[in-house]
Amino acid sequence: MPRPILATVSIDAMRHNLARVRERAVGRFVWAVVKADGYGHGLANAARGFADADGLALIEFDAAARLRAHGWRRPLLMLEGAFDPDDVAQAARERLALVVHEARQLDWLQAVDAPGALDVFLKFNSGMNRLGFAREAFRDAFARLGRIAGVGRVTLMTHLADADVPGGADEALRRFEAACEGLPARRTIANSAATLDVAAAHGDALRPGVMLYGGTPFGDGDARALGLRAAMRLESRLIAVQQLQPGDAVGYGSTFRAQRPMRIGVVACGYADGYPRHAPTGTPVAVDGVPTATLGRVAMDMLTVDLEPVPAARPGSRVELWGDGVSIDAVARASGTIGYELMCALARRVPVRVEDGAAP
Ligand SMILES: *Cc1c(COP(=O)(O)O)cnc(C)c1O
Repeated sequence: MPRPILATVSIDAMRHNLARVRERAVGRFVWAVVKADGYGHGLANAARGFADADGLALIEFDAAARLRAHGWRRPLLMLEGAFDPDDVAQAARERLALVVHEARQLDWLQAVDAPGALDVFLKFNSGMNRLGFAREAFRDAFARLGRIAGVGRVTLMTHLADADVPGGADEALRRFEAACEGLPARRTIANSAATLDVAAAHGDALRPGVMLYGGTPFGDGDARALGLRAAMRLESRLIAVQQLQPGDAVGYGSTFRAQRPMRIGVVACGYADGYPRHAPTGTPVAVDGVPTATLGRVAMDMLTVDLEPVPAARPGSRVELWGDGVSIDAVARASGTIGYELMCALARRVPVRVEDGAAP
């Protein structure tokens, strides 16, 4: 018997979420972001869920090669660009568009001998201070790209540090507009937060990530309220039930102690499955569809839950760790992190089932 834990990836939810992106920003080119193995959902699953996207954007060159090998023919955009000259050669061979954020990447482009082979996304540093050129260097780089024979279309790009807070994008957008002034090129700015909340940042192309998987990019609320569906459900079962008396403790460190008699359930899911160890007592969970909460410390292979609201629960009862019933955003917030991290951290030992209502 395998352990009862199971992650279900819903291709239908991905399609639904992509359709929500299209509604928010009609007519824009949509790059569905599939870095980090499709935010933990599996690269092939993401490519299937986002088959209607105009292109896929990612970071890893081996993953881009796999997408091409599996028949993805539409554009691919490498969000951190080339890490070395070999990546540029691969990009020319496999028609990968490259972000250029740094001077030596410009040098590497000189080696591309096919005229116009490589589309480039020239990145401006609008205040995040990770990747991208400052204003003068940005404009110089644009001019230089125009003289490199191997370069095809150039798009102007920036990434917003604070699109998830009201007004947080304003200053960065002003800087970007000023840097782009008079440059004849398309623009791409928006991540999920800006796709949802900053129409002025929609530009010509969007780059949504987390919202496509049914996670919120914002610090409060959850993705359901944004009309999005969870693309990942993590479920397991109770493997034991314990009756506690007042004063009894639960789990490592005895961080939870019963105040009164209570029934608790032991769930086959722990931090080695990708559940956050920092989830405190009170983190939301559902048993047989009934909302309840975790108790005590999350261990490597198990966690414990309060069965008071679910008197009928017994070993074998179903537990939803996150999914349609329990928001991954709420679990993340309780644990001091974001839904993005939980999705990406789903552990390899968890079996994944794919749900696709449209499959033959
Ligand atoms: C990851 C990433 C995105 C997507 O961000 P979300 O917040 O997940 O929507 C967009 N653009 C760039 C450059 C990225 O690295």
